[in-house]
Amino acid sequence: MKAIITGGAGFIGSALARHLVAAEQAEVVIVDKLSYAASLTALDPIRAMHGFRLVQQDICDQEAMSALIQNEQPDLVFHLAAETHVDRSITGSHAFVQTNVMGTHALLEATRAYWLGLPSSRQSAFRFVHISTDEVFGSAEPEQYFSETTKYDPSSPYSASKAASDHLVMSWHRTYGLPVIISNCSNNYGPYQFPEKLIPLMVLNAREGKPLPVYGDGQNIRDWLYVEDHVHALMLMAEKGKPGTCYTVGGASERTNLEIVKQVCALMDTAQPTAAPHSQLIKHVTDRLGHDRRYAVDTTRIETDLGWQAKESFDTGLEKTVQFYLDRSDWWQPIRDRVYKGERLGMPTVVSRASAD
Ligand code: NAD
Repeated sequence: MKAIITGGAGFIGSALARHLVAAEQAEVVIVDKLSYAASLTALDPIRAMHGFRLVQQDICDQEAMSALIQNEQPDLVFHLAAETHVDRSITGSHAFVQTNVMGTHALLEATRAYWLGLPSSRQSAFRFVHISTDEVFGSAEPEQYFSETTKYDPSSPYSASKAASDHLVMSWHRTYGLPVIISNCSNNYGPYQFPEKLIPLMVLNAREGKPLPVYGDGQNIRDWLYVEDHVHALMLMAEKGKPGTCYTVGGASERTNLEIVKQVCALMDTAQPTAAPHSQLIKHVTDRLGHDRRYAVDTTRIETDLGWQAKESFDTGLEKTVQFYLDRSDWWQPIRDRVYKGERLGMPTVVSRASAD
């Protein structure tokens, strides 16, 4: 079996590639433009292994993607290439529309042309697995759990671009019969997550005795999914998922942002007792614009239909994750030095003409 993973040099894509190649479950071709968020180091464990290749390519180039897909003849496409940081979408939405919407469209068209030319047995076995987010549903009410039938209601330029890509993907199934599956997953965490995201940013700032910025009152709730549990879910979707279906995936670990930061602080107190309590570094800062209050997902469908369950508890997953960042300064130090130093993102300085009127 051969799988193309777009965005495979990113956080989730690299975890998926490491799993597939190490378990010899598939030959893997990563297609990634190597943006600021990409990490070749995350692929080190498998780079020399048989059955792995990396192609530097922007998915927005439909002609190049067509040639690449025809050449590779994959059985599976996992689509993870995206601009992913909500804060960056607030100040730079163009890149999000370009990659997440236009790039997904280019990839769908390139995939459809290839898929149409396959013999019927390969055509019916082919799968296009699109990785999306629970953020497409907007903010959940206190007792609400998002499911596959929840109405889309995105709040940020990021989630709106992901919602648009989901609609494109599903329409390529309904209109052209392309066998697509969508993962609407909650917040992933784990090793090799770019240190602009909440957990790695807090660990690295705490390690350096820097302020731990918590947006607003810190009571925004997310559900946390260990990245390897998500990888397992994606594998099951590719193996057993029904084309034209979406699955909401989450770790049954709802926490407020403030709870997360305090739990990171407690782990850092054990790791660096002389700097305890790290919670004294917590600093409430101006809230994110359009900040959804709560995300929570109902995982009944993926559990019932595909037999998936999250294996990692949040406590053990967080411990492993914090330990990874403490052990692997070789990975994050070059990023902190040269790519992202931990500064506040998502604070627009220019008011657009439309909103000023
Ligand atoms: P990431 O930012 O870590 O990685 C994204 C990768 O995509 C990078 O390697 C980047 O170089 C690549 N990329 C960006 N634009 C590209 C383009 N035009 N062409 C080719 N490659 C391009 O992202 P992630 O956290 O691994 O997320 C992967 C997917 O999962 C995304 O679609 C994201 O929306 C979705 N998702 C992530 C989370 C999460 O918590 N991380 C939660 C829900 C959904």
